[in-house]
Amino acid sequence: MNDRPLTLMAVHAHPDDEATGTGGVLARYAHEGVRTVLVTCTDGGCGDGPGGVKPGEPGHDPEAVAAMRRQELKASCEVLNISHLEMLDYADSGMMGWEANDAPGSFWRTPVEESAARLAELLRRYQPDVVVTYDENGFYGHPDHIQANRITTAALAMTDLSPKLYWTTAPRSMMQRFGEVMREFGSDWEEPDPDEAAALAEIGLPDEEITTWVDTSEFGEQKFDALAAHASQGENIFFLRMGKERFTELMGMETFVRVQDATGAPVPENDLFAGLR
Ligand SMILES: [Zn+2]
Repeated sequence: MNDRPLTLMAVHAHPDDEATGTGGVLARYAHEGVRTVLVTCTDGGCGDGPGGVKPGEPGHDPEAVAAMRRQELKASCEVLNISHLEMLDYADSGMMGWEANDAPGSFWRTPVEESAARLAELLRRYQPDVVVTYDENGFYGHPDHIQANRITTAALAMTDLSPKLYWTTAPRSMMQRFGEVMREFGSDWEEPDPDEAAALAEIGLPDEEITTWVDTSEFGEQKFDALAAHASQGENIFFLRMGKERFTELMGMETFVRVQDATGAPVPENDLFAGLR
């Protein structure tokens, strides 16, 4: 072994995904002395603008939104003590079916080999022991999240590295609780129609299929503050409304599926670095 520090790399689609999906593990492992590297693939230009102006509405300027979100991302990284932030800066592709999917420079339109080659460079530079990204459906079908999964798989194949590889997921039991809290705190919450409800029921995994449960409840405050750094985005305001305590209760366990492993650490495990230290 060399003297390279133990390293965690998270590959995310947009500014703020690092906080919602992996804020707990990023804070926890930084606290344990692990080097943490965040790769954010897009500029988030399809997010909400100042004053909550939505993409496509008059006054929504993707470049200005991207500039604002870059500052928010930096603030979130500071809260989470992220060692290195790497931005690939592709244009946000928007939700599936939007025109932005095919806009020039969009992450979704960029050939996988091309963006994967850039990520492979970062993999070689940091040589992470653990890599975290989304599952093949991008957890909920967002094109940029799907693309993050694809380029991570492709980039790893371009290197001779074999880190533990994880996809973020949520246990179905938690999704159910999440639905209840949405009703409680979502002021504009509408009951999903049967099709939507069926699609929602497919998100996440049955509890018994989850390989890795990491308790990050001690770092709930940091995760909350990281998300608060992204307060310009409407969907985050819902979480912030909960307050730190309820938020930590709901979001204090981060769960993953281990999809690649050379350590042989038995599952279920409670540590992304099990078998590595
Ligand atoms: Zn996202």
